[in-house]
Amino acid sequence: MDDGPQEHDEYPHLKESALNADPAAQQSLLDVQAQDSTLAQLAHRRRNLPEHERVAELTEQITEVNGNRVEADTAVADLTRAQSKADAEVEQVKARKARDEERLNSGAVSNPKDLESLQHELVALDRRIATLEDEELEVMEQLEEAQTGLSVITADLEALRTDLAQVETARDTALAEIDERVAAAEQDRELVVAKVPDELLSLYDKVREQYGGLGAAALRARRCEGCRLELNGADLREIATRPEDEVLRCPECSRILVRTPESGL
Ligand SMILES: [Zn+2]
Repeated sequence: MDDGPQEHDEYPHLKESALNADPAAQQSLLDVQAQDSTLAQLAHRRRNLPEHERVAELTEQITEVNGNRVEADTAVADLTRAQSKADAEVEQVKARKARDEERLNSGAVSNPKDLESLQHELVALDRRIATLEDEELEVMEQLEEAQTGLSVITADLEALRTDLAQVETARDTALAEIDERVAAAEQDRELVVAKVPDELLSLYDKVREQYGGLGAAALRARRCEGCRLELNGADLREIATRPEDEVLRCPECSRILVRTPESGL
């Protein structure tokens, strides 16, 4: 056709690559692209597993609840000490009372003034014991409350840790499954990439980097599967004239466009 060169000027994408590759090698490039797309999807899945977010949430909650647990633990320890102290004080005063009663009953104190003062002291000691026992009771109640609080917090913490362990197991299972699929895709890619000439592969890598991971696309039913656009009649007619081994670029998106038996040319 005489107007060929004009068409070339009108559709510069079509001659841009100036690269030739066996049609079979071009088909293999589509296989490489398929594996690369799979690998990109797997990498995306790996990064965005819902378990990652859940692990972060639970870890944060555990840190918070563990802080509460330390506080509750300290409160229980303080109150336990306070209770022992209150208990010891009661015992001390009771011992003194016992001694005084023994002296009183032994008859060793005969002086009426001494006897009176001893009886006064016993009354005072009883009052003191009553006061101390009230205080001790209050501390015991506080301690009981603090212990209940600590048990609740400890149970919460345990439940959160169980949840975390489960989510981590689920995450690890999902990651292992992804790793397996990545290994399989890499293996498959190695088989097909060996069939693609270096020059075509480096063009593919360059285009792929530029166009969001999709460097090569099939032309199917007059549509570029890279940009999903249907090519216009002039472009399709132009493409139909190009040798089979010419590496084409999509006139719409510039990706490497690989002709297929279903291209619709
Ligand atoms: Zn396209």
